[in-house]
Amino acid sequence: MRSELYIDGKWTPAANGRTFDVVNPATEEMFHKIAAATAEDVDVAVKAARRAFDKDGWPKLSGAQRAKYLRAIADGIRARQAEIALLEVIDNGKPFPEADWDIADAAGCFDFYAGLAEQLDNNPEEPIALSDGRFTSKAVKEPIGVAGAIIPWNYPLLMAAWKVAPALAAGCTVVLKPAEVTSLTALELAAIADETGLPPGVLNIVTGSGSIAGQAIIDHKGVDKIAFTGSGPVGSKIMAAAARDIKRVSLELGGKSPFVVFDDADIDEAVEWIMFGIFWNQGQVCSATSRVLVQEGIYDRLVARLIEETKKIKIGNGLEEGVLLGPLVSKRQHEQVVAAIEAAKAAGATVACGGMRPEGFDKGYYLEPTILTGVPLDSDAWRDEIFGPVLCIRPFSTEEEAIELANDSRFGLAAAVMSKDDVRAERVAAAFRAGIVWINCSQPTFTEAPWGGYKESGIGRELGRWGLENYLETKQITRFATGEKWGWYIK
Ligand code: NAD
Repeated sequence: MRSELYIDGKWTPAANGRTFDVVNPATEEMFHKIAAATAEDVDVAVKAARRAFDKDGWPKLSGAQRAKYLRAIADGIRARQAEIALLEVIDNGKPFPEADWDIADAAGCFDFYAGLAEQLDNNPEEPIALSDGRFTSKAVKEPIGVAGAIIPWNYPLLMAAWKVAPALAAGCTVVLKPAEVTSLTALELAAIADETGLPPGVLNIVTGSGSIAGQAIIDHKGVDKIAFTGSGPVGSKIMAAAARDIKRVSLELGGKSPFVVFDDADIDEAVEWIMFGIFWNQGQVCSATSRVLVQEGIYDRLVARLIEETKKIKIGNGLEEGVLLGPLVSKRQHEQVVAAIEAAKAAGATVACGGMRPEGFDKGYYLEPTILTGVPLDSDAWRDEIFGPVLCIRPFSTEEEAIELANDSRFGLAAAVMSKDDVRAERVAAAFRAGIVWINCSQPTFTEAPWGGYKESGIGRELGRWGLENYLETKQITRFATGEKWGWYIK
């Protein structure tokens, strides 16, 4: 397990020697210490990234040359997949098969952006037809510069991949700060990148707190772009800090995503996707479909079936065979989710299932999968993100009402609809005010497709070709034809 910062191709302790503890959420044991970067460390990292970008030639490499590094990183991740997945489990708490899936996805993300880096060579410029025939013009794409990437704890390596892979593919250099509660696998990413011979300064990983290391990244004048995934309040701070130097920003923030189930849906299929939409990763998923709206005709039967299946979920240490729900990531997160359930009860909601620390678990940040009914529309439980395995479910009668309830949110990250009537499903999908819409499912995520939110859920899109655009500037190059005369001042 790594414990130092990775800056300019070297492993180094924090300037002031400070560290922070790494705790296993399943056992509450402190098992490791990691360097807590200071603003001084961030400054060294940004300067290394600047040099790698401005002088050492990373952006000048061809896309194919950069792609070789990306593919080597993907291979390096896959070669150590089980070991890295294990680190993710003891750091984050998620069940091993989920961690294994994340790590495979992270490797796939590097491969995907290797392909897009190669395509940059094939489409270096776009000719532009101008209204004045004496001129010719073209648009070219260039990397933005130094990218500061700040990520949350729910998909530690995968979120790192979503930012580092497109940034490097585009030709940017990166300073990445993982979340303080889950930094282990980002440091492994640095070790793998180092083994590929990635030039020093191209990728720097600074572990540490948001208020010190994170803040130092967003305030640094040497950073051209901030890519952030995390909470709304921090996203808002980042936009404010970025505004001072007109840094480019992309934000992937929270959600309170709806899942509308019509009464022609198969109840078991609906229950399966509702559960996947809220209990996967302990519900700590920005796109979790945490507000379920079920048409009156099947509401009672569906809720009964959902409770029956939810009670069967095996809770435990993510390393145990068959576990489908691990502990929440931290004590703080556990306290926040429990407080949200208490607040929902005080607001009049009924706990139809769960809501407690599971029996027999006196250590670890465990919480039963929870279903809340009768949640008032104006309550925090219905309106705000809980970020835990807590589902709010309500009946509706008409399609119009369902759409109105679904869109009545300050968020717009994701939305899902289930119906056997394809025309209706498409109509509802079109009516959702959200960046990601699932029909007859919830959560499947593909590296090829755009990811991001409307409204307070964020700005910009990650993944797919949109993710690459996040790290590119557009330059026009316009030429006045040799032999032509302009004749404005000199006739
Ligand atoms: P958070 O906003 O507290 O932290 C995210 C990151 O920001 C961490 O690395 C943290 O250290 C850093 N940070 C905190 N304060 C900072 C500051 N002042 N300056 C710079 N960086 C700072 O969020 P979290 O608790 O880690 O994650 C949970 C939240 O993230 C949820 O609200 C969830 O919806 C959201 N999230 C969104 C997505 C998405 O794709 N939209 C994905 C995962 C999580």
